[in-house]
Amino acid sequence: MLNLRSNREIKLMRQAGLLVWQAHQAVSQRIRPGVTTRELDQAAEEVFARAEAIPLFKGVPGPVPFPAVTCTSVNDEVVHGIPTDRQLQEGDIVSVDTGCQIAGWCGDAAKTYPVGRVSEKTQQLLDCTAASLDLAIERLDKDATWSQVAKQLQEYVESSGFSVVTNFVGHGIGREMHEPPQVPNFYSPSSEREDFPLKTGLVLAIEPMVNAGSPEVKCREDHWTQVTADGSWSAHFEHTVALTSDGPTRLTGPPTDEESLPA
Ligand code: MG
Repeated sequence: MLNLRSNREIKLMRQAGLLVWQAHQAVSQRIRPGVTTRELDQAAEEVFARAEAIPLFKGVPGPVPFPAVTCTSVNDEVVHGIPTDRQLQEGDIVSVDTGCQIAGWCGDAAKTYPVGRVSEKTQQLLDCTAASLDLAIERLDKDATWSQVAKQLQEYVESSGFSVVTNFVGHGIGREMHEPPQVPNFYSPSSEREDFPLKTGLVLAIEPMVNAGSPEVKCREDHWTQVTADGSWSAHFEHTVALTSDGPTRLTGPPTDEESLPA
């Protein structure tokens, strides 16, 4: 079951996407050694509050409801990190994931930010993960099905000497943050069975998570934070992407010259 969106609906989703982009701008401006992940979370929360948008992460059910509007995952934390008073250090990386809903439509995006200067290997991890997302987005109007895209994404990451996390996947997005289909970043024996055609009107949150070491992850005792099993560092990049008749469009990308910001 796929939700295919009209141009009008995609335009509405773009408003949510622009707000998510603005939240990331606010976060990126505050990233420096000494800042806490809670301060980054507050920067995003202010953007959503000003626009009267609904933050999508706060209160997500779990053993404890998720307490913040962003997930902030530092170094060996893969995804779902909880913002705290932890101060970021020079050379750290922090993955920030956030989403909002406005006028009934959702947007969701993640990016891993370097804190000050990072090591060459760490920069390669960030560049590889960002490039794997770019590759997937560019293939959306060239391949027939998602599994073909996922296969190339995975091959790109592995040929760079890194690994793709297989415990978590991307997702359809629209009225809800998580809608069908599941959007894995890898190819597996079940990929063909769960595959879907790349049709105009699809809106997907594509979100590769890439580890410097092995792909295994484990959950911390806070019930949320996912960390690499081997302690290696991890990066996460995500865009909400619409496949339109003009090709793939990043709904959480920066505004064009013709666009004004919603808040
Ligand atoms: Mg997502």
